[in-house]
Amino acid sequence: MASHIVGYPRMGPKRELKFALESFWDGKSTAEDLEKVATDLRASIWKQMADAGIKYIPSNTFSYYDQVLDTTAMLGAVPERYSWTGGEIGFDTYFSMARGNATVPAMEMTKWFDTNYHFIVPELGPNTKFSYASHKAVNEYKEAKALGVDTVPVLVGPVSYLLLSKPAKGVEKGFPLLSLLSSILPVYKTLTSLSSVTAYGFDLVRGTQTLGLVTSAGFPAGKYLFAGVVDGRNIWADDLATSLSTLQSLEAVVGKDKLVVSTSCSLMHTAVDLVNETKLDSEIKSWLAFAAQKVVEVDALAKALAGQKDEAYFAANAAAQASRKSSPRVTNEEVQKAAAALKGSDHRRGTNVSARLDAQQKKLNLPILPTTTIGSFPQTVELRRVRREYKAKKISEEEYVTAIKEEINKVVKLQEELDIDVLVHGEPERNDMVEYFGEQLSGFAFTANGWVQSYGSRCVKPPIIYGDVSRPNPMTVFWSKTAQSMTSRPMKGMLTGPVTILNWSFVRNDQPRFETCYQIALAIKKEVEDLEAGGIQVIQIDEAALREGLPLRKAEHAFYLDWAVHSFRITNCEIQDTTQIHTHMCYSNFNDIIHSIIDMDADVITIENSRSDEKLLSVFREGVKYGAGIGPGVYDIHSPRIPSAEEIADRIDKMLAVLDTNILWVNPDCGLKTRKYTEVKPALTNMVSAAKLIRTQL
Ligand code: GLN
Ligand code: ZN
Repeated sequence: MASHIVGYPRMGPKRELKFALESFWDGKSTAEDLEKVATDLRASIWKQMADAGIKYIPSNTFSYYDQVLDTTAMLGAVPERYSWTGGEIGFDTYFSMARGNATVPAMEMTKWFDTNYHFIVPELGPNTKFSYASHKAVNEYKEAKALGVDTVPVLVGPVSYLLLSKPAKGVEKGFPLLSLLSSILPVYKTLTSLSSVTAYGFDLVRGTQTLGLVTSAGFPAGKYLFAGVVDGRNIWADDLATSLSTLQSLEAVVGKDKLVVSTSCSLMHTAVDLVNETKLDSEIKSWLAFAAQKVVEVDALAKALAGQKDEAYFAANAAAQASRKSSPRVTNEEVQKAAAALKGSDHRRGTNVSARLDAQQKKLNLPILPTTTIGSFPQTVELRRVRREYKAKKISEEEYVTAIKEEINKVVKLQEELDIDVLVHGEPERNDMVEYFGEQLSGFAFTANGWVQSYGSRCVKPPIIYGDVSRPNPMTVFWSKTAQSMTSRPMKGMLTGPVTILNWSFVRNDQPRFETCYQIALAIKKEVEDLEAGGIQVIQIDEAALREGLPLRKAEHAFYLDWAVHSFRITNCEIQDTTQIHTHMCYSNFNDIIHSIIDMDADVITIENSRSDEKLLSVFREGVKYGAGIGPGVYDIHSPRIPSAEEIADRIDKMLAVLDTNILWVNPDCGLKTRKYTEVKPALTNMVSAAKLIRTQL
């Protein structure tokens, strides 16, 4: 009985790749330094899988940025603006496509299916020339071979690659991308013999009907079935007894020698190694498995099927499953009751949005095209050190509060100097927009190194929701009130919405997701009401990840959107008309969910927009009818490039062609946390100048 792993996290157990990449980008280390870190990481992953007894070990699942961009490099499909002149694609061209450079913006980035991983969208058209321009896949295979490990190279398949791409600028929107298949196949052919398929790998976790289909309809004779039973998307220990019985049903159909135990998808969507979690509560820890542990689970299942069941290992697993079901730390009766009582009501603000905006404007007195930012300001090394030292109890609470207050004051003064209309406090106390809230809510557990790649070198450390959620104390009120006391301009209270907290956490799998989401919504509702009571007049509730939770199956969309939107409304349905609710959403395809976004009934919606084309805006024409304020990002914060005032003014003009003057807001497309002050100051200066210029022309 054989075992297989679809893919493995690239960043390393302590995010070694992240630090190597960022130091290289900053010019602090050489290409050789970066390559050395990458080579060591790959070697240790291969060795680990080989030691665990995995038969089919993957290669080419490593990437310096993204596997779709790697495929673009492999196919030589470099957009013209990067002035690539042929030859093997090197770091220069590769990272320019990923991140932009001083003169050219980056390629667009979008979410990989329903995950929080972002890939770089290929830009293709009838004139795209394809050539075999990156030997990465073969090189990695050889590299593993030299280490004595025979691997299965992993490629993004040609059809998927084309379906994940978009027509390049200037190419008609309806261009049939699949028509390029015959142009890219020659490159694939030089890598593989493209012989017929001998094995099929299925995700048996998300694919809830796959088992039934295989057992009822059968499976092609002589082919292998790679059965993805160990969940690559969560951190929960596998219920080995259940998986074993699934595998036995499959075995009866495909035969003993044709069944291979595998993961449901690449393990890149889970954390790396539980071994590094020395501070995690031991009961909770017994319920978990990260990538390294999942590799062992896959192998144990394969051995059990082959008649070499490790009884002690299976018994420990069964005991952990039972403890999770009965543990009192999982259940909070009061929360269960409050969430159950939500049923049957619509939870909507009493007054319509236009009337609310009028009431708010009387108090806020904002100019047309009001300027604002999305929340975070650059997080300096010094700031991170302060937070770290406070966490490690190396500095006192008093010292910490003083330092954060100083930082807030700096950010407030800067925004006043820049003449921004609605201010933010900059979020200096937050490490991460979900972790910060999770740490203060009950029912959440935290890891020290449970990082998951989000895009490029960026990682997130999702909290683990293991039990019923409640809010014992106010979470942000002190900082927001402090910030408001420093200025006479409106200060936005800054919260993360329930759907985003849910979608960016590892969620318990022992109750439906919507129940967990309603519990979080009730906790955030308390915070919103406390902020309002504390004199905060504008509250932004970020739902950066609303679309991300959309199920892949269309038939399940309506149900998800209904409870997600409902969760958002629960948070603010009982506040006064004069309190202005903003929501912010990160890049996503809004087209198909615009009605749901409007149904969230926020007063102002800011969206990430600057990396996608103008068509996104037309989507919001629908929103215009509804009357809420809309702030499509006027510049890209994912790139270090500083946009000029003219360029931003031009964007605003384009937006005004679609959106009414009185509803348009001017803001960057997301938080500024990852940028440097040397980038943020000139960019925001230009943004405010652009807004002022357009105001004079209206
Ligand atoms: N308020 C958050 C910030 O500015 C929003 C970030 C996000 O949407 N990803 O950092
Ligand atoms: Zn955002």
